[in-house]
Amino acid sequence: MSKKKPTKIPKWLKQYRKKVKTALGLDAWEVNFTVDHLDPNDDAQVLGTCNANPGYLSAEVVFHLPHVLEPTVDAKVTVIHELLHVALARTKRVTQNWRDDGIKKPFDKIFSYHYEDAEEETIVRLSRALLPLIERMP
Ligand SMILES: [Zn+2]
Repeated sequence: MSKKKPTKIPKWLKQYRKKVKTALGLDAWEVNFTVDHLDPNDDAQVLGTCNANPGYLSAEVVFHLPHVLEPTVDAKVTVIHELLHVALARTKRVTQNWRDDGIKKPFDKIFSYHYEDAEEETIVRLSRALLPLIERMP
């Protein structure tokens, strides 16, 4: 399959996006999902990427194929994971503003490294913890 050809989003993924958005209180957000093949230069461990703009309540999430084609437990955890990044987008924006405006170099890089590491670690834990709760939702 050509890398440029857009791949259709699996039906389960659209339905699950709605469910997880509701569970996380993100119904007001416009969250666009796309699926794409991983760039050969990217880290193969990266299953999705999230780019959220809390000012506009909009986010773009890219899932890497073939990871999300079927609604496996890992694929569902990945959806929750990326939507938790959306849920934390305002917090992240605050830390970015501190980094850009308030913290002198080289501490800005150290600070953002620690913040991103802490956010990632928290999201990994929460996404696993939330899965059974979200599964029980109608
Ligand atoms: Zn993440």
